[in-house]
Amino acid sequence: MKDKQEDVEKEINDLNAKIEKLQNSIEKLDNQIIETRRNIKQLNQEIKKLEQEFEEQQELYRERIKVMYMNGPTSILEVLFDSQSFSDFLGRAEIIKAIVENDRNILQSIYEKKLEIENKMKEIREKEQNLINMQYEYSSQKSELDAACKEQRKLYDKLEKDKAYLEKVLKAEQEESKLLEKQIKEIQARQNKNKNYGTFSKTGIIKVSDLGYIPRVTSPFGMRMHPVLGYARMHNGMDIAVPTGTPIYSMAKGEVIIAKYMSGYGNVVIIDHGDGLTSTYAHLSKILVSVGQVVEKGQMIAKSGNTGLSSGPHLHFEIRKNGTPVDPAPYYIVGQ
Ligand SMILES: [Zn+2]
Repeated sequence: MKDKQEDVEKEINDLNAKIEKLQNSIEKLDNQIIETRRNIKQLNQEIKKLEQEFEEQQELYRERIKVMYMNGPTSILEVLFDSQSFSDFLGRAEIIKAIVENDRNILQSIYEKKLEIENKMKEIREKEQNLINMQYEYSSQKSELDAACKEQRKLYDKLEKDKAYLEKVLKAEQEESKLLEKQIKEIQARQNKNKNYGTFSKTGIIKVSDLGYIPRVTSPFGMRMHPVLGYARMHNGMDIAVPTGTPIYSMAKGEVIIAKYMSGYGNVVIIDHGDGLTSTYAHLSKILVSVGQVVEKGQMIAKSGNTGLSSGPHLHFEIRKNGTPVDPAPYYIVGQ
């Protein structure tokens, strides 16, 4: 039974690595697609401008031909043979040559403009083909990711029924929670007690616009009878089920005092908001801030995940007063 449990854990870890790789790749593709679309739009604008210039030059040249035709080529010859002397003849021939040269330059410029337009159109066609390929790759990676997440969920369901695993998760959570309490107290004692981040006001740590739905709170704060273990245990935060990669925003203005990896909490960020109040965000896939950084209310600080000992992708959200966990529910907001 124990071997089986460890196999499942290993399988989950492998899947985690795969999911993380896919998510990074999808994010990169998404950025490339946006960039390519922007490029195409810009090229289209450039072509529009070039076509306008092309039209104008053509119109100008048409006018010129018309004038020449009206005066007739004979008039040019007349001008030439009406010369009073040989040097006069040469002078007039020079002028005509200059006129012809000028015409050639205009025609050359028109031709070049047309070539430029064609090149840009070719570039657009290539970029569009590229875009199609990237979009195809994007959707295929997306479905691969969905499949991996589903597979992982199944494995977690299996683990959630496994008492030994659950006890390990809960024990690590309790021990690290105590450790964090100590660390937060030390940091707060060291720091200036009068640190002021302005009037405290809070905002959503998760946004509906990122998820497309209001996420479910899977485990609230406090002593709870555990359905599988069959005994009560303390939960120091609240768990919110969100898929890996969900943007996490700072509850309020404050200073990052902890941003690190812990074996139980996984990637964790703790922000000090003054007056001994801290907010904690755990099991993150990505930390986007560093210790000492002052973050604004609603600033993106991390991406949610499944790191550390966790039974499936979720955010573990804690509020502490002078290091001691309190019920985070009054502070928990889902933004629009
Ligand atoms: Zn939790």
